[in-house]
Amino acid sequence: MRRHRNVKIVATLGPASEDYKTIRALHEAGADVFRLNMSHGSHESIAKKHKIIRQIEEELDSPIAILADLQGPKLRVGTFANEAEELVPGATFRLDLDETPGDVTRTCLPHPEIFAALEPGASLLVNDGKIRLRVTACGADFAETEVVIGGTISNRKGVNVPDVMLPLAALSDKDRADLEFVCELGVDWLALSFVQRPSDVEEARELVKGRAAVLSKIEKPSAVESFSDILAVSDGIMVARGDLGVELPVQNVPPIQKRLVRQCRAAAKPVIVATQMLESMIESPMPTRAEVSDVATAIYEGSDAIMLSAESAAGSYPIEAVTTMDNVAREVEADPTYRQVIMASRRVERTTVAEGIVSAAREIAEATDITSICCYTQSGTTALLIARERPQVPILALSSLRTTARRLALSWGVDCVMSDELGRFKHAVIGAARAARSHGYATEDSQIVVTAGVPFNVPGTTNILRVAPCQESLIYPNEPDDGV
Ligand code: ATP
Ligand code: MG
Ligand code: MG
Repeated sequence: MRRHRNVKIVATLGPASEDYKTIRALHEAGADVFRLNMSHGSHESIAKKHKIIRQIEEELDSPIAILADLQGPKLRVGTFANEAEELVPGATFRLDLDETPGDVTRTCLPHPEIFAALEPGASLLVNDGKIRLRVTACGADFAETEVVIGGTISNRKGVNVPDVMLPLAALSDKDRADLEFVCELGVDWLALSFVQRPSDVEEARELVKGRAAVLSKIEKPSAVESFSDILAVSDGIMVARGDLGVELPVQNVPPIQKRLVRQCRAAAKPVIVATQMLESMIESPMPTRAEVSDVATAIYEGSDAIMLSAESAAGSYPIEAVTTMDNVAREVEADPTYRQVIMASRRVERTTVAEGIVSAAREIAEATDITSICCYTQSGTTALLIARERPQVPILALSSLRTTARRLALSWGVDCVMSDELGRFKHAVIGAARAARSHGYATEDSQIVVTAGVPFNVPGTTNILRVAPCQESLIYPNEPDDGV
């Protein structure tokens, strides 16, 4: 399905979006990637959503990426007998280790290590910092708190303790079990929460064993500090603004977002800007102007993808939220200023043959009336290098590997379609012309640029660039038809 925009849309699935009809409608409205949050929902419900996505992918014959998001060492409250309670300022609220569902006076906080580290006066922030509790007394298995800022507290909301250093392992037992489960199920991206250091990512990679691409969520001050090293060992990045804006002063988030997006682009690795993008659309069919502006900013900055969390997982208007993002994206990308900003921020060091070829492909395409850049890619690297150039013409990637096609669904401007394994470059050119025509990237009268690596199927060999007409009889006019 050809999308008329470059930035990709990630939609989190949850109770508001777990049936076939809604997931299909979300994809048709513009969701390119579906996020399954391992913090919520059983393995059974994750497997069910996974099966529906794969079914839709097959029906529409268009690769869809599935991103599984591990909970990581995230602290969460337990559940409530009434699902949710309203905490009012001045009230007392107790946290303990008792797994009985909570009420307006208490709930479970199943983390003995927090109680061990807490001291009176410390703040506990709940639900991306919306609720603030101050500890008045605490022991080995409880904390009495006073509600400083009230709000609705509900099942399994996240808790941050910014004042206290907590000794937490990068992957809990639950994370390890979830990781193995989703890797066996077959997901394309695995997101790691609360990454603090490069070794956290390497530890996960050893368990993933290449079964999924690994994406680091940046939501801790320490991850911001060692960002370059974390980026080097990750396949992608998420600017997870919810926890980031709690762990750091909230005004620090926009400059960090800008810097991270820029660094990811320079490294040719996809970056997602996430959290509260259209928060008011959880309850309203119309976004606020500030939210629309936030989505637009992430697109102007050159993010690969923008994400919906509760808006699509638990909100009343999941499809409208995707449509809003799609509308904003098309409008921004049609703005001449967008092009100027994207071009001005193109600072690419080119040291390899592949980098030289993709930059030449972009220059030729932009200087002429070429309608698309078609690239053959096995690992996906060539497509990522073209995406880094942020060309004005669309990128059509061709791969014989479904995993590559799916992973590329997260990357700026890349549409990846399946191709046969190739024997000769001639077949590659003809195959690209056919794919470009059938997917709406070219007509009989168009010209395309094709890049490939010969010999075929050796990763990292992109070394050929051909400008070709799309009318088959003109591609190799002097050679007899050999039944391609
Ligand atoms: P994270 O820190 O990983 O983003 P989160 O709790 O913020 O975790 P999101 O996926 O961002 O979770 O979704 C935001 C909210 O939407 C959740 O807090 C929860 O209330 C609701 N939600 C999301 N997915 C589900 C689900 N599968 N089941 C129940 N509620 C969900
Ligand atoms: Mg988070
Ligand atoms: Mg969230």
